[in-house]
Amino acid sequence: MKKVYLDNASTTQLRPEVIQEMTKVLTEDFGNPSSTHSFGRNAKSVLELSRKSIAKYLNASAPEIIFTSCGTEANNWILRSAVKDLQVKRIILSKIEHHAVLHTVERLQNEFGIQVDYVAVKRNGEIDITDLVDLLSQDIKTVVSLMQVNNEIGTVLNVEKVGRICEQHNALFHSDMVQSVGKLEIDLKSIPIDFMVASAHKFHGPKGIGFAFIKKNSGLQPLFFGGEQEKGLRPGTEAVHQIAGMAKALELSYANLEAERIHIQELKNYLISQFEIHFPAFQINGTSDGIYTILNVLLPFPADKTAMILFHLDMKGIAVSRGSACQSGSIRPSHVLAEMLSNEDLKKPSLRISFSHCNTKEDIDLLIIALKSI
Ligand code: PLP
Repeated sequence: MKKVYLDNASTTQLRPEVIQEMTKVLTEDFGNPSSTHSFGRNAKSVLELSRKSIAKYLNASAPEIIFTSCGTEANNWILRSAVKDLQVKRIILSKIEHHAVLHTVERLQNEFGIQVDYVAVKRNGEIDITDLVDLLSQDIKTVVSLMQVNNEIGTVLNVEKVGRICEQHNALFHSDMVQSVGKLEIDLKSIPIDFMVASAHKFHGPKGIGFAFIKKNSGLQPLFFGGEQEKGLRPGTEAVHQIAGMAKALELSYANLEAERIHIQELKNYLISQFEIHFPAFQINGTSDGIYTILNVLLPFPADKTAMILFHLDMKGIAVSRGSACQSGSIRPSHVLAEMLSNEDLKKPSLRISFSHCNTKEDIDLLIIALKSI
């Protein structure tokens, strides 16, 4: 049975060159980057070259890139320190953020009694910018936390516009860019932004490594305390092989961006055309111009098929998702779709199909055949 992986928003396969790079670093550059001998200096050089390379692709300066263990950690760190150390008294976010942001903010609200405002989300999953401007008219020290690409429905936020609005209202701007780094061109010098977050395993790099962009002189303080690594902002011996793997993955993502975007967009268009033929009553959850890597659809199946659809596809070797990975085993509806769909539609099966350059037209055909057999 051919297995089909269409769950790339959840995680991605490592590129062979990334494995090669990591193996080389594990074998040859095993020194501790904080050691002053040649082994340490060698590892330090791998570390700093990786930082420089990542900064270059995002048009940031290298010292603004701080390595963390994952996207979740980076989101927690930034939001917590904004409240604890930057005198932030209010966080504005949306109800369709990733749980790494939503649950962090809930926790901060309970712990510090900060004000939390949720910006309105339109029926198509877009953030209501007019509502954001209205919320920002209140004069209170604020951080706005809005993701660039939604991990469930693929809607894309205009971060340049939001950044400018935040700047005009003296608010800090944080964006979870976990689903966009390596997939969209990002120029951090042209966006008025204070903090952003990325995670290597979403762009064909290793798990367990991510980074934060922390704008110069932000005043952010560490979450953990220990050594002087990452300028004291993220102590702990750096995972040099993971970091080198992440830098290699980002380099390859941007080197191949145009060709892979065309290939993936063609697959997405083909899948939509197949849905139109075989399931004409299907609906796209989100906007039709969402990111090319994600398609979320509401299928015209009865509600009693909802619980078994993923299982049925899995039996046929096909991996897709119902929402974000953390929810796919649960029967609770996705918190993102809950903001957009009627109660009736929420009961019907929705699928998130997410693509990478590794997918082929045959994968799409196999998905359609499997769905037709339900
Ligand atoms: N933010 C978004 C938008 C995501 O899609 C994910 C992963 O599902 C995360 C944060 C969490 O990233 P990590 O797995 O690196 O903690």
